[in-house]
Amino acid sequence: MKEAILYEKLKNKNVRCQVCLRRCVIAPGKVGYCQTRINKNGKLYTTIYGIASAIHNDPIEKKPVFHYKPGSLALSLGTFGCNFRCKFCQNWEIAWADGVAEAKHGTKISPKEAIELAKRHQSAGIAITYNEPAIWLEYSLDVFKLAKKENLYTCWVTNGYATKKTLDTIAPYLDIYRVDLKSFDDKFYQNLINVPKAAPIFEMTKYVRQLAEKYPQIHIECITNIIPTWNDSDKTLKEIAKWIKKELGPKTPWHVTRFFPYAKLTNVPPTPAETLYQAREIGLKVGLKFVYIGNLAVDEEDNTYCPKCKTLCIERSGYATRILAVDKKGHCSKCGEDLNIVM
Ligand SMILES: [Zn+2]
Repeated sequence: MKEAILYEKLKNKNVRCQVCLRRCVIAPGKVGYCQTRINKNGKLYTTIYGIASAIHNDPIEKKPVFHYKPGSLALSLGTFGCNFRCKFCQNWEIAWADGVAEAKHGTKISPKEAIELAKRHQSAGIAITYNEPAIWLEYSLDVFKLAKKENLYTCWVTNGYATKKTLDTIAPYLDIYRVDLKSFDDKFYQNLINVPKAAPIFEMTKYVRQLAEKYPQIHIECITNIIPTWNDSDKTLKEIAKWIKKELGPKTPWHVTRFFPYAKLTNVPPTPAETLYQAREIGLKVGLKFVYIGNLAVDEEDNTYCPKCKTLCIERSGYATRILAVDKKGHCSKCGEDLNIVM
């Protein structure tokens, strides 16, 4: 166990965790909501430092991230626990796990070993994914610091519920912030995720955009998993698309993905294909330049076209990526338009 880096000591040996917006007050002997931070005699410890639940060498497109080193592999690591309780979680077996108990069963991997593994497998980067990376802050930080020395890129696949303090801590070492923007509706977050409000997730994403002024290496991509009857209305999708355009910029990639029934949300059918095509149309109409459909076999809706001259710049088929017309600067090689792609 390693002492946590962001917490506040309170009266009677209680502590307040500062990692995510839940800001759990934790009594001695107890754990926080994510079940991975334990108060031992007035000090907060993380139980999952260097404990992985899954390690894969994934195409970066699988995160999904389409505009950062397309076609590259990212060593992807996940741990146990989560600060959300999404009823539809695809990784609920690890996300809802008890981080204290699982620490004994997970794969031990030190930051140095993670970097060595990435290099051995020709990964171009490291992604912390599968469950919420913010709860793995101490480990992410140590891995990312080493990654930067080795010229590997770094990625957080996040639900967006980290505090400013956490974001400030990771930002200098973070290249890709891939965030879930599910809905503006508090009821969505209350009923499906057990989080009281939607707004803070958007506020924190905006904050990361501000951090990117100071740390210009930070690249942001957004995803909305569209769940029938919950966040599939034209109004909701338009609202999210408009927000991305205004706050993050029209060239921010937006992934609209198909929902499949999982875990405790099995009474809702998979998202119909037409809803996803409609969502993409909405995003493009609002003025977003790159809207991609995910979790559905499509013809061309996951390709990258130059928004200016319409040239096919990147062709994708499953996780096979063919770069056809992008220069080293990430611009369209036909007309020079900036595609907001890091090559
Ligand atoms: Zn062009």
